[in-house]
Amino acid sequence: MASKGLLIIISGPSGVGKGTVRKRLMKDHSLDLIYSVSMTTRPPRKGEVEGVDYYFVSDETFDEMINNGGFLEYTTFVGHRYGTPKEKIQQEIDAGHNVILEIEVDGAGQVLEKVKGIDNVVSIFLLPPNPQALEKRIRKRRSESEETLRERIEKGISEINASKSYQHVVFNASVKKSAKEIASIIRYEIVQSLVGEVRD
Ligand code: 5GP
Repeated sequence: MASKGLLIIISGPSGVGKGTVRKRLMKDHSLDLIYSVSMTTRPPRKGEVEGVDYYFVSDETFDEMINNGGFLEYTTFVGHRYGTPKEKIQQEIDAGHNVILEIEVDGAGQVLEKVKGIDNVVSIFLLPPNPQALEKRIRKRRSESEETLRERIEKGISEINASKSYQHVVFNASVKKSAKEIASIIRYEIVQSLVGEVRD
């Protein structure tokens, strides 16, 4: 039987660069990572692809998923809803793949509560090198109104507090360095979980 894979949770404040770091990390095929594609009611941004970046759905479809217990977690973030579909995650982990969730702080907190005591879980919190860096990154998203940008900035700063609940904290000063650091955390955790299985 294949060894179980890891559930890897990457979270951090809005604008810290989770998405960019995660995309870079996924290029390292030796880590055998499967990205858990989320559902959102937010409209697609330019260049975003259905089923790759998100499943873009209506409010009705999102409600249906909630009613059917289809989400591992879900939340509302700056006016739109986001959720992690449950179905594929357990299948992939049982097949030995490492599933990566890249989600915001509230939803990640829900997952951390649910997986308490389970040992094939890795939680990583990405922090900005300083609060100014966070604001600068958020402002680069010109597709959003000033009000939404301010809301994202304030939320981002208040979310930094949540880092205490995570096993690992990584400062995102450069995408390349952070992806490398996270890759070595994942390699370490893979070895730990194999050692655990031999012992059991
Ligand atoms: P964006 O609109 O910039 O793509 O995403 C906004 C925030 O929602 C980001 O912090 C992103 O990581 C997070 N996010 C994406 N998918 C999910 C999800 O399924 N659940 C939760 N809780 N957050 C998500």
